[in-house]
Amino acid sequence: MTRLERRARGGWLLAIGVLLPALLGVERPPGLSDVVEVRTWSYEDYTRVVLELDEDRSLAAPSLVRLPADSTADRPERLYLDVPDVWVGRRFESGIDVEDGLLEGVRLGQNTLSTTRLVLDLARYEHHRVFTLPAPARIVVDVYGDRGVRRDPSGRLPAELRRVHTVVVDPGHGGRDPGALGVGGLREKDVNLGIARALATQLRARGFDVVLTREDDRALSLEERSAIAESAGGDVFVSIHANASRRQGARGIEVYTLDANHERHSLDVAARENGVPAARLDALQRALARIQADQVGSHSARLASLVHEQVIHGARSRDASLPDLGVKKGPFYVLFMSSMSAVLVETGFVTNRHDAKLLGSERYQALLAERIAMGVDRYRAQIETGLAAGGLR
Ligand SMILES: [Zn+2]
Repeated sequence: MTRLERRARGGWLLAIGVLLPALLGVERPPGLSDVVEVRTWSYEDYTRVVLELDEDRSLAAPSLVRLPADSTADRPERLYLDVPDVWVGRRFESGIDVEDGLLEGVRLGQNTLSTTRLVLDLARYEHHRVFTLPAPARIVVDVYGDRGVRRDPSGRLPAELRRVHTVVVDPGHGGRDPGALGVGGLREKDVNLGIARALATQLRARGFDVVLTREDDRALSLEERSAIAESAGGDVFVSIHANASRRQGARGIEVYTLDANHERHSLDVAARENGVPAARLDALQRALARIQADQVGSHSARLASLVHEQVIHGARSRDASLPDLGVKKGPFYVLFMSSMSAVLVETGFVTNRHDAKLLGSERYQALLAERIAMGVDRYRAQIETGLAAGGLR
């Protein structure tokens, strides 16, 4: 699968964007955000457009309007959305060419003095999803469609009709983002990376292709994590994290699947892992509720349950008193951003002295990695048994 990333022309256009309104005599109203960048990524079955703003604003969930082709104006079918309180001026007036078979291109313009309009000129279209991301504020539009290869309406073969070859392993946090900080200076990002590396080794030994979103101590945006996952053509996505709590007694392992439904506790964990206050998860939850039925579902739940079963079993062979916090649902951006069966493992609490001691040891990290790999292996076996039984038509 090819990964095409186009960065909108930045520096000098930004300068013109600031100067041009003055030259044209257009007053730029005060208090507006600026557009920093428009990026597009082309994947096998969808194209992602990301509009990034210069401030970390809380964006309302935008709604897209679909317009039919207009032959008199020589316009193709298109989608547009209006973003209030944003100034773009005429920076992107000539548009950004995409021409990947799904999108002709992207245009941005000042629709009113305080509203920016984003227009996607479509080549083909089946459906889309749109959601917002915080810190920095971004609007993400994924346009799905048929580039000419036969596909199901969700844009790729449903999980039960795919073999399980490639696993994307995602060690949470990294670089300037240490994740949770724990007992004895234990940093979540280091625990995550240790387990993820061991997991890669374990999975390769079982015949999987493995791609790590990071192999060292570096910061990655959510978009970069999902771009790596999608570009690798992953079938399964496993995100590795460690938990934290103000209650030092809190310990144990929990496994998450993506879901707009959640318990209070899940929302706290999701907020911490997403790096946003719980109140800011609203837009994601609304987006999730809309797309949930067919896109995230039974396969991720099955994967989570198999991984959970194995991990608890293994961890308790080291510490029989380890609490099993179960399989839970929550709105996790990192799981939402990719289109594959996805699971997030909270491997223990770095803030608990028993868990921290285990998580800091290479031997325990290797044990957890082995058990996660066994869970993924069982998932593969179940999927492929289903295929052999005639699931593939
Ligand atoms: Zn984390």
